[in-house]
Amino acid sequence: MKLLFVGPPGAGKGTQAARVAASLGIPHISTGDMFRHHVSNGTELGLKVDSIMKSGEYVPDEVTVAMLRERIAEPDAQTGFILDGFPRTTGQVAALDGLIGTDGLDAVIVLDVDEDALVERLLARGRADDTEETIRNRFEVYREQTAPLLDVYDRRGVVGHVDGMGDVEEVTGRILTALSDGDATTPPEVGS
Ligand code: ADP
Repeated sequence: MKLLFVGPPGAGKGTQAARVAASLGIPHISTGDMFRHHVSNGTELGLKVDSIMKSGEYVPDEVTVAMLRERIAEPDAQTGFILDGFPRTTGQVAALDGLIGTDGLDAVIVLDVDEDALVERLLARGRADDTEETIRNRFEVYREQTAPLLDVYDRRGVVGHVDGMGDVEEVTGRILTALSDGDATTPPEVGS
């Protein structure tokens, strides 16, 4: 099963991707984690992306795609994987299509959240960079950046929305149910 997880910052997407991946016995592939791993190990790639990541910019597609291509060629990824943080640009969508085909993803799981409730939760964490304004701005950026990607996958009929509010266990259960019911994977009727 090849899945993509999408969700706003602070919604627990990485946590859910890791839990669902463990439950399905497939790897959780987070390009952000992979880049951070390279940076902390001081690899050649890490040295290249360190300053880009610190500035909050995107790593160039050619670099990201090359890393992803190698990762999904690993033996553990042959039965499937959960992508987290990739694709992030329409160029990356096209690159992924080239790697796994336009029908390669079985489902794109979108974690829906109540934005006001999430703002409350993030403010309660009390991190210095979390003001209501910065949090709302991150949501705005998320919406702008994911909308064109979700349009593409929506047209392919593979997008499934899951309520991302509530306990971690509860949300994991909803995702697994959506996947096994096929709610998240059934293509629309032709002509609908
Ligand atoms: P966030 O902190 O928003 O959860 P991630 O942990 O997924 O983001 O990624 C951290 C950083 O790694 C990004 O800001 C970006 O510089 C880089 N990165 C991760 N995934 C990608 C990608 N698909 N394309 C380009 N850059 C990426």
